[in-house]
Amino acid sequence: MTRLALIAHDEKKDDLIEFAQAHEDQLLEAEFIATGTTGGRLQAETSLSVECKESGPLGGDLQIGGEVAEGLVDGIIFLRDPLRAQPHEPDISALMRICDVHDTPLATNLASAECLLKGVLTD
Ligand code: PGA
Repeated sequence: MTRLALIAHDEKKDDLIEFAQAHEDQLLEAEFIATGTTGGRLQAETSLSVECKESGPLGGDLQIGGEVAEGLVDGIIFLRDPLRAQPHEPDISALMRICDVHDTPLATNLASAECLLKGVLTD
């Protein structure tokens, strides 16, 4: 089963929920991991089944990066907030780097998230 990671910074969480709701039928084909707060909202506001890691600032991005390193993740949608500094910037950089190391698809905005879904879920 396709395994996707979903992460959104606070200012982008509403966008990710709307995206997940709009693509819910398609997304039901996949399984999900998410950082804590993002995952909690997805569980409450969509019918997706989500395995929640720690919250991002507490290490959730690194936990997801660990799964990428193990080859367990088929793609990540990570709606970053480009306008605000994050306290866990090093963790975010590490996650993006490990995606590049393993050639794992990583979408950081809604337009690329649409492309990622088309590519990953129609295999
Ligand atoms: P959160 O983490 O889903 O726990 O808010 C996201 C992040 O800030 O990386």
